[in-house]
Amino acid sequence: MLKSQGYAAQNASSPLAPFSFERREVGAHDVQLDILFCGVCHSDLHMARDEWKGTAFPVVPGHEIVGRVTKVGAHVTKFKVGQTVGVGCMVDSCQTCPSCGEGLEQYCENGFTGTYSAPDKVSGGYTYGGYANNIVVNEKFVLSVSDKLDPAGAAPLLCAGITTWSPLRHWKVGPGHKVGIVGLGGLGHMGVKLAHAMGAHVVLFTTSPDKREDALRLGADEVVVSKDAAQMAAHANSFDFILNTVAAQHNLDAFMVLLKREGTMTLVGLPEHPHPSPSVANFIFKRRHLAGSLIGGIQETQEMLDFCAEHGIHSDIEIIKIQDINQAYERMLKSDVKYRFVIDMASLAA
Ligand code: NAP
Ligand code: ZN
Repeated sequence: MLKSQGYAAQNASSPLAPFSFERREVGAHDVQLDILFCGVCHSDLHMARDEWKGTAFPVVPGHEIVGRVTKVGAHVTKFKVGQTVGVGCMVDSCQTCPSCGEGLEQYCENGFTGTYSAPDKVSGGYTYGGYANNIVVNEKFVLSVSDKLDPAGAAPLLCAGITTWSPLRHWKVGPGHKVGIVGLGGLGHMGVKLAHAMGAHVVLFTTSPDKREDALRLGADEVVVSKDAAQMAAHANSFDFILNTVAAQHNLDAFMVLLKREGTMTLVGLPEHPHPSPSVANFIFKRRHLAGSLIGGIQETQEMLDFCAEHGIHSDIEIIKIQDINQAYERMLKSDVKYRFVIDMASLAA
């Protein structure tokens, strides 16, 4: 077995702390990497605190992984030792169901294997994530990270990037569209950058008025403070598409009424407590849609990484030491992230 060092939560109320564990040795189709950087997603916090119920403890979170390949299995063709690669939210799926066949492994009908806290079909037990020094993953779930990308700034693309890219592409966002992004956190700031790069007119909705200048710098054309009813009313019936990244329960009606006839609001935020049920009338009278979206498939993740490399798009990050992860979680709960924490895994050795 391969020895690994990381940080884990032992139960829903304990802080993350150093943890030693084992991973499988590299199999014929596996890639082993030394993890250089791992982004800190709000999902890591939801999981470490068991807010979605069902976390397998101890949990080593982390699914925005960039590392360097140290070993490849005998049958690996896509990767070689020394290459910079990424691993996102999935490390396995059935590969036989219709969704996997269409490259939508995140909707695998037999259940994909999450990068952490998921039953490990290969070696038994549960998967451990990227707040660690190394990981072993089937090559099908490993992504190429271009040398044009900064490895630390690229790490959040593996979740925050693909989770916003996939719905923006699925709902065909582009020039001539008025697009709203709700929440300027890890996902939201990538949503602003990507929707802007796709050519849309981007409006950022925030509860934090002091994020206004940053939002404009990141690519928003307009900023609306969502608590200000007059600012909200000025945008009634005007959006083609709204991507809602908020990590806490809130009133969805306030955004539904901003959609045009047949517009769509897609939820990617998954709060601990459900949103109040939205008003049916807002759907009926304008044939509006409310939808959801989960991360993205492996092929589209590679397309997103290649697009970001070509367009020079990175996440705006604050690099932290692994020892500061618990404070980072507290700051994330206060919406005080500019705009993604990324753990420098070299700190693990300290
Ligand atoms: P984050 O960095 O904490 O950002 C969330 C943002 O939501 C905050 O920065 C804040 O932005 C806004 N917000 C927070 N509390 C709010 C409240 N009470 N009312 C209104 N707005 C509030 O989190 P993240 O990492 O981007 O993740 C966001 C959510 O997406 C989480 O629930 C996460 O689990 C989920 N997620 C889903 C997927 C998927 O596949 N669907 C993938 C990854 C993550 P402002 O300060 O601008 O208001
Ligand atoms: Zn995530």
